[in-house]
Amino acid sequence: MEENKHSIVIIDDEESMRDSCRMILDKDGFLTETAEDGEKGLSKIKEMKPDIVLIDLKMPGIGGLDVLEKVNDISPDTIPIVITGYATVESAVEAMKKGAYDFLPKPFTPEQLRVIIKRGLEKIRLSREAEALRNEKKLIEENFITMVSHQLRSPLVAIAQYFEVMLSGSVGEMSKQHKDMLSKARNRVNSLLDLINDWLDAARIDKGQLVEKFKPVSLENLLKNQIEFLKPLAEKDDIQLEIETPDIESTIMGDKETLEQAFSNLLNNAIKYNKPNGSVKVSFRENNDNIITDIKDTGIGIKKKHIPHLFNQFYRVNRNQDKKGKGSGLGLSICKKIIEAHSGAIDVSSVPGEGTLFAVSLPKSKEKKTKSFS
Ligand code: ADP
Repeated sequence: MEENKHSIVIIDDEESMRDSCRMILDKDGFLTETAEDGEKGLSKIKEMKPDIVLIDLKMPGIGGLDVLEKVNDISPDTIPIVITGYATVESAVEAMKKGAYDFLPKPFTPEQLRVIIKRGLEKIRLSREAEALRNEKKLIEENFITMVSHQLRSPLVAIAQYFEVMLSGSVGEMSKQHKDMLSKARNRVNSLLDLINDWLDAARIDKGQLVEKFKPVSLENLLKNQIEFLKPLAEKDDIQLEIETPDIESTIMGDKETLEQAFSNLLNNAIKYNKPNGSVKVSFRENNDNIITDIKDTGIGIKKKHIPHLFNQFYRVNRNQDKKGKGSGLGLSICKKIIEAHSGAIDVSSVPGEGTLFAVSLPKSKEKKTKSFS
């Protein structure tokens, strides 16, 4: 019973004040403690971690404002309310700046005290509710990620593995019809796995965690390596991959692994949605404090009506050409999330039938710039 009561510490050097506040609040069912100076008040706060503390501003020894400043360190969840006989706008502003939640000028009626305490308690209730909701949301997200990766992904990996073994013929011969059906099943499972992997990638991108891993990354080297890696894929469709050596410093601060993922998505799309004998050109330019990487293809292009939705999760442009490479529709939303986690931006312009340009703007690394000038 006692545990459910809200607790209040009253710090005032005037005995009559402490007693009257206590009488009113005890009667209303609060658990109260009093202290006659700042020092004793602070140790009571430390011990009790009360919901609310009433602090008289003018006291001998440690003054009310000093107590106020320390409350947040000792008990961050406690709501401080100041009481004073010399209520001036300046003192109120000063107290609010130092973290007071509210202000009660002396003399006050029991009703005025009750109103102010009620408001303080409402604030506590709302903060607790918000905190509980935040925790619940985080937990649901974490559980969902774990569920998707373990309960969904793992069995699919096992199924795909069985299909591979059967299709390899090592468990016995199959009729052509059997083989065809099994190979269709395998393809569907693999597409599902791609979708799950993409979704997991997107769910795991967390700006805070990413920033901690930031190191200097040369965009020129990163894209050159990506292009080298994708050349065999492009050659299959007679698509030429080119990169211009930049005459600017292309180093930025970032996380190499996720940047590789973003650019690989863009390059893969530029190949996948291209035309035979087409090309993909990568070049760099500067714009104020940003380095812009342009990825320009001579592919099928994107109609204007699709552009605003392109970076939405699961958005795919529905057309026949897409059938050759079924995707999850998550690639561009992941790119955007990664680029924005690097405080950058991604832009697209396209002419249907002629080609598309994706421009990725990333902030220059300030460290590197000064180094290269020295
Ligand atoms: P996915 O490629 O898996 O469908 P994305 O999010 O990577 O998903 O792309 C969304 C849609 O944008 C694709 O379905 C495709 O139609 C279109 N698209 C992306 N890049 C290009 C491009 N370079 N040229 C033409 N269309 C593109």
